[in-house]
Amino acid sequence: MAVKNNFLHVYFNPAHAQRVKKTKILSLHKGLPESAKVAASYNAFEAKPMSSILYITQIHIEPGALKRLAEECQRNRISRPLIVTDAGIKAAGLLQKALDALPGVTCSVYDGTPSNPTEAAVRAATALCHADQCNGLIAIGGGSSMDCAKGVAISATHPGPLTTYATIEGGSPRITAKVLPLIAIPTTAGTGSEVARGAIIIVDDGRKLGFHSWHLVPKTALLDPDLTLGLPPLMTAATGMDAIAHCMETFMSAAFNPPADGIAIDGLHRGWANIEKATRNGQDREARLQMMSASMQGALAFQKGLGCVHSLSHSLGGINPRLHHGTLNAMFLPAVIAFNAQAESMHKENRLARMAQAMGLEPGSDPAKTLADAIKRMNGALGLPSGLATMGVTEAQFDDIIKGAVADHSHKTNPRDASVADYRNMLQASM
Ligand SMILES: [Zn+2]
Repeated sequence: MAVKNNFLHVYFNPAHAQRVKKTKILSLHKGLPESAKVAASYNAFEAKPMSSILYITQIHIEPGALKRLAEECQRNRISRPLIVTDAGIKAAGLLQKALDALPGVTCSVYDGTPSNPTEAAVRAATALCHADQCNGLIAIGGGSSMDCAKGVAISATHPGPLTTYATIEGGSPRITAKVLPLIAIPTTAGTGSEVARGAIIIVDDGRKLGFHSWHLVPKTALLDPDLTLGLPPLMTAATGMDAIAHCMETFMSAAFNPPADGIAIDGLHRGWANIEKATRNGQDREARLQMMSASMQGALAFQKGLGCVHSLSHSLGGINPRLHHGTLNAMFLPAVIAFNAQAESMHKENRLARMAQAMGLEPGSDPAKTLADAIKRMNGALGLPSGLATMGVTEAQFDDIIKGAVADHSHKTNPRDASVADYRNMLQASM
């Protein structure tokens, strides 16, 4: 445990734990029976992949949560906000709802966020932010608007081109506490970007790059399920499957992070029980609330790491940006679960059966097959495609998809190492 950059970090990793004075580690165990102390030490030192556990966003989740926008602006000392959104949110009247929640506040609005945020969009919004001397950001929309706003949070306060700060360019440590404060208001239930530290932005040279920093975590998330009532069925289904994929992949990832596991398995339970209801009846406010929670829970949990579902969908989504991220995840889940079923960490903690139970399924003698079959059935019930082939993906694209997947940050946190041949099998099975 360490206090760094005003954040309280809890590390589960030998290398990091050893940096902390032994007395401090022991004080964590104070008051525990002797056997529990030994077990706690053993578990902490046996675990291999590092987990850093940090939850810092002020979250309000309830119908009508948007009404808290003014008080949250005050709390975050945002007197002159730049609202980052897109044309669809404006047309749907949701931007106006946000403006109405800020009586007497002068707001600037950037509504040019593309469906996949670009460096050019970040530049345009940053110029507006500087011209109007805005001192904070409000993102209202799906993952694109929230990610675009995270780009603005960096570029409005940090020198040089945005690419300097990309994770793959070693940029994460260059992102400092100077970032503009961000209040995130999601209008879909899937990405969970409102509580996550990452953003995906297409930079000027065409690369789709990730930006990751604890400083990018929104200060406040207003989760108002009423804002998702107008989301069309297919969008509800696809974004909902993204949330479910986050919960499942995080739960399967091998890092030692019990809080994330607990949040993920509960999120899976809520998401699975409500995705069909929310898709069939968009006005079901209870189902919308539950899906919004599943989305937030998936992203709270995925700081533990994702896996091959996301390495594949990031790669394929980069090759063909018209393919929806959540739909791709829904296609890849069955094959990746079948592949992961062989991983030692999956057996050790009985993870397949626990996921099946959370989904209300009888695990049976082959829980991996039970899960994969249930997901395929659900995809069909939701009206999602039956496989990659029906989405226009061809075998000729496999090499490029695999190249991108191996290079993706989610590749490393899959519970089982995937080779090129493994990826080829997973793609084949997902066609
Ligand atoms: Zn995702």
